[in-house]
Amino acid sequence: MGSDVRDACGVFGIYAPGHMVANQIYLGLFALQHRGQESAGIACSDGDTITVIKEMGLVAQAFDDVKLAALDGHIGIGHVRYSTTGSSEWRNAQPIFRSVADGGIALGHNGNLTNTTELAEVLGTLPGMFEHSATEVDSTSDSELIAALLAQEFSNGEDSDGRDLERALTTVLPKLSGAFSLVLIDEAHLFGVRDPHGIRPLVLGRTDGGWVLASETAALDIVGAHFVREVEPGELVAIDAAGVRSIRYADPTPNLCIFEFVYIARPDTQLYGKSVHLARQRMGEELARQAPADADMVMPVPESGVPAAQGYSRASGIAYGDGFVKNRYVGRTFIQPDQRQRGSGVRIKLNPIAANLSGKKVVVVDDSIVRGTTTRQIITVLREAGAVEVHFRVSSPPYRWPCFYGLDTGERADLLAADMSVGEIQDFLGVDSLAYLDLDRLVAATEVGHESFCSACFTGNYPVAVPLQDTKLVLENRSAADHDFGQILPEQSAQ
Ligand code: SF4
Repeated sequence: MGSDVRDACGVFGIYAPGHMVANQIYLGLFALQHRGQESAGIACSDGDTITVIKEMGLVAQAFDDVKLAALDGHIGIGHVRYSTTGSSEWRNAQPIFRSVADGGIALGHNGNLTNTTELAEVLGTLPGMFEHSATEVDSTSDSELIAALLAQEFSNGEDSDGRDLERALTTVLPKLSGAFSLVLIDEAHLFGVRDPHGIRPLVLGRTDGGWVLASETAALDIVGAHFVREVEPGELVAIDAAGVRSIRYADPTPNLCIFEFVYIARPDTQLYGKSVHLARQRMGEELARQAPADADMVMPVPESGVPAAQGYSRASGIAYGDGFVKNRYVGRTFIQPDQRQRGSGVRIKLNPIAANLSGKKVVVVDDSIVRGTTTRQIITVLREAGAVEVHFRVSSPPYRWPCFYGLDTGERADLLAADMSVGEIQDFLGVDSLAYLDLDRLVAATEVGHESFCSACFTGNYPVAVPLQDTKLVLENRSAADHDFGQILPEQSAQ
C-alpha cells in the first residue's frame, strides 16, 4: 500500500474443450484484481461466435451469474485494468473486440507500447481503421492500435485457412516496441504473447483437459491449473485442438520489471521460478544488514511491507509487531483519483494500534515510496499514536524515473525522489532515520541476475528506447542535451 502507484493490468486466458470457461476466467481475474481495479472484461468463443462483456469496477462488481451465463464458450480471455488519469471510461476497458473477415478477434494487453506514434501513422493511412490521429495517440489507446494493426493484416490477407490471426500476429508483433503481454482469441484459438524483453510476466498452465495463460502463477492456482512454464520473451504461443505451438517471433532479451518482485505481483506468485514472498523477505534481511536501527519493534506498512518487515526482524533480531490495523474493505489508495482524496484515504485504511506503539522506537518497513504523500501521513499517524522514534526502511532503491512500460507512476515531478536526496526525503517525511535498499542488494534478494531485469525507475536506464515527443511532460526535469537527442536510449539515460 505504501506504493502510491497505479498498477499494471492483468490478463488471463483459457482453452478448455467441453467446458464453459467464463466462470474460470472470472476466478482468474479475481486472483489478478490487485493488478487493476478500474475495469474488468471477459471475451468467450463457443467456436462460432465471440461474446464480450466488460464493465467499470472490480471483478465482483462487473460480473454476476447472469452475465457469466451469457458468456458461452470453451475459449476465452479476461482482463483487469487500471487506466491512466483521465481515461477511466468504459470505452477503454478490455478485452478489445474487432470484427475481421468473417469473424472477430478479442485482445487483452498488459503493458505499454513505446512506438505508438509510428504505428498510428501507418494506420492513419487507412480511413476508418483507427479513430485517433497520430498526434492523439496516448497510452490508453496503444492496445487498440495492436488490435487495429491485426485487423489490417486480415484485410490484407489471403484465403482463410483458419490461422489468420496467427499469421497476422507474426507480421504485426515484430513492429511493436515496448511492453506487451497479450492474450488473444479468435473463434477457435487462444494466443499468448510476450514482448522480446518480457517486461510484464505471462505464464502457461495446464488444467484438466485445457490450457491456461495468466499474468501470474497465483491465477493458475485459483482455477486448479498447474504451472507449466513462463511464456518466453519474444514468443507467441498458439493453443487450439492440436495442442500448444510455440512460435518465436523475436530474439529474447529478458528484462522483467523488477518492480513486479518489489510490489506489483502477489506474494504467492513465482517469477523466474522464485517465490515473490521469499524474495521480499530476503529484501528485508538485506535491508537490516545494510541499514540497522536501534529500535524496540519492526512493523510493516500493511500489507505490501509485511514480508520485508518479517525479513528485517529476522535478520536484526528486533521483535516483529503490528502498528496498524488495516481495514480490509477499502481498496488500494490509488483507486482514488486525485492527490487530495489519496491523502484522506490513509486514515480510512490504516488505524494505528496505540497500545503497541506508545513509547516505542519503531522500524517501519515498506516496499517503496513513489509519490510520498501516503508515507508522510503514515508517519504523522504513528507519531500521534505515541511512537517516540520512527526509523523508515524501504526495501527498494529511490524511485526516481517514471515507468513507460505499463506502471502509471505519473510525471517525473510527482516522484518524491526525482530531485531530492535521501537526507532531504528524511526531512520531508519527518522520520528519525531513512534508508533505501541498494539496487545490488535488491537484485541479490531475487536470486536472479542483474541483466535479467528492467530497473529503469531506479536508474533511468531504460531497456527499450522511450520517445520523447510523447513524454516531454513526464521527463521535464531532463537536461536540454537529452531533449535534443529526441529519444532516451538505454546507454544515454543511465545516471
Ligand atoms: S521502469 Fe520500473 S516499474 Fe517500469 S518496467 Fe522498469 S522496473 Fe518496472
